[in-house]
Amino acid sequence: MKVTKADLAHVAVKPEQYPTTRLPEIALSGRSNVGKSSFINKMINRKALARTSQRPGKTQTLNFYEINEQLYFVDVPGYGYAKVPKTEREAWGRMIETYIESRELLKAVVQIIDVRHPPSTDDKMMYNWLKHFDIPVIVVATKCDKVPKGKWEKHLKIIEKDLEKEDSDPLLLFSSETAYGKEQVWKTILYYCSK
Ligand code: GDP
Repeated sequence: MKVTKADLAHVAVKPEQYPTTRLPEIALSGRSNVGKSSFINKMINRKALARTSQRPGKTQTLNFYEINEQLYFVDVPGYGYAKVPKTEREAWGRMIETYIESRELLKAVVQIIDVRHPPSTDDKMMYNWLKHFDIPVIVVATKCDKVPKGKWEKHLKIIEKDLEKEDSDPLLLFSSETAYGKEQVWKTILYYCSK
């Protein structure tokens, strides 16, 4: 996929602020610091369009990146940041729940996991929750440049088992450092966009 145009087109906290241009949407989810911004930037060939981690204290928003006038990447604030106060976590939960539950243009969620470690409790909760709403999940195991190739398969097996991943959900290796997996992830995203 050749990305020729990518802009932060909409920032939303409530449905009235979602885009009215009806394009397929792919949401991006992952715990803070997992490499979600790096993933977005690598996928759209930009150094820093998606800014690294929305830290606590900053407004937590859904960021809609319009790509090639063809689809939106919807960047969802990272979960599992321990220092976020409870009230803010609850607001985050409501904002995401409203979007995930009600957005019929949402085609799939890319859930980013660190390939080096077994999925965290938050990772498992997020995956289960998405499955509860019957949302297709593309599991992207990032930072694969940090694991020797000979161990990739072993790490993927652990992720698959711990998440209790459904067979229909793809699990793909990726690296924002080397761009490994980029074309395969694009292919998979476009497949879900066309469904
Ligand atoms: P976010 O909080 O999920 O948006 O995470 P960031 O994209 O800010 O990444 C967190 C840290 O991991 C940064 O220091 C990145 O440079 C690093 N990082 C992200 N992706 C990769 C990757 O694929 N390989 C390596 N080696 N480092 C990565």
